[in-house]
Amino acid sequence: MPEKNNDSCCEICGAIRKTRKTGGVEACSTCRTVISCVRNHPDLVRKIWPLYQDEPILLHAERISSAEPMELPDVLDGKRYRTVDREDNKWYLSVSEINGNPVEVFASTAFDRNHELQSRISNLTTITRLISLILRHIFLHEPLTMSKCLKQIQRSSRQKNDLPDMLYGVLSRYNRNPEEAGRNQSVP
Ligand SMILES: [Zn+2]
Repeated sequence: MPEKNNDSCCEICGAIRKTRKTGGVEACSTCRTVISCVRNHPDLVRKIWPLYQDEPILLHAERISSAEPMELPDVLDGKRYRTVDREDNKWYLSVSEINGNPVEVFASTAFDRNHELQSRISNLTTITRLISLILRHIFLHEPLTMSKCLKQIQRSSRQKNDLPDMLYGVLSRYNRNPEEAGRNQSVP
């Protein structure tokens, strides 16, 4: 019977085999070979990959990492759409565009000063701020981070304990890079 004492779980493929620490991970011999190829010969991996694989995984990863994030220019084209909701409130939805792509959305309404609607407006602000963040990620390759999401949620809050404020309180517990948020909002 072969001894099983030295076997452990490969952190890469999950197989229960003899593993060794390579490049910071506990890996089996097969995975160690792959790791060493990827670390030492990425150009070869890139060259060989399309010969045997249809999925452009490496090409895609390369495209995303090499795409330079684009800064929002000071002046943006935009369109404003007037809409009416089911309760007959009039809304203005503004979409800023770059090359015809939406990169920011805003919603405004005539009843902005109405106190009863403050919470509704803060919820709406959360939605449009997060959508804008996603749009800038899609079209301008702006990195999407937890800290940025949190910052947008926090800025959407209008009153203590409104929905964005509560969401911020809960989600900021998961932020692993609090220093990147710029404020000392870290939690234990
Ligand atoms: Zn493995």
